[in-house]
Amino acid sequence: MKTADYPEPFKALVRELRRLPGVGPRSAERMALWLLEDTERPSALAEALGAARESLRHCADCGFFSVEDRCVICVEDGREPLLCVVERATDILPIERSGAYRGLYHALGGRLSPLEHVGPEDLRLAELTARLERGAFTEVILALSTDVEGEATANYLADLLAPRGVRVSRLAQGMPAGGGLEHADELTLARALAGRRRAGEQ
Ligand SMILES: [Zn+2]
Repeated sequence: MKTADYPEPFKALVRELRRLPGVGPRSAERMALWLLEDTERPSALAEALGAARESLRHCADCGFFSVEDRCVICVEDGREPLLCVVERATDILPIERSGAYRGLYHALGGRLSPLEHVGPEDLRLAELTARLERGAFTEVILALSTDVEGEATANYLADLLAPRGVRVSRLAQGMPAGGGLEHADELTLARALAGRRRAGEQ
């Protein structure tokens, strides 16, 4: 006798849900059951996904999420003339929430990684230098992760920006070893920002 299982369309839904980050087989099954319990739920989810997909884009300046060409941070008046360089657009909100920084941002879209074949041409470096030429920034703060690839990216950027005469600083030690900004709590970030040091200094 064969062991009974869910019908194929249900299993296909569970397979899709399992592709979501952090979702295991049991929770995928629970999500699928919950979604199908009510006829409204699948269409509400599908609509929200479609609307987000249609309207969300990356800010042309900093790379943060936006529904307009430029995001709410970049169009806000009164930001300090500081430029904080991060790896990912998702690194921006933790720094905003720390309350310790009121400048602008630039998301690189990743970091240098020979193993993953990510070179300088894959990062938003042309956009970065163009912004520095356009805007009157007094300081560029490199807020990259503290592992080997983050360090290599920070060194590359420090060399790239050195001839431009803009002050380049790096977050103070205290970031979680081997982790990106998403693992840092707000107090740690605030301290790392306050204690930033000029790139190249020990
Ligand atoms: Zn922006």
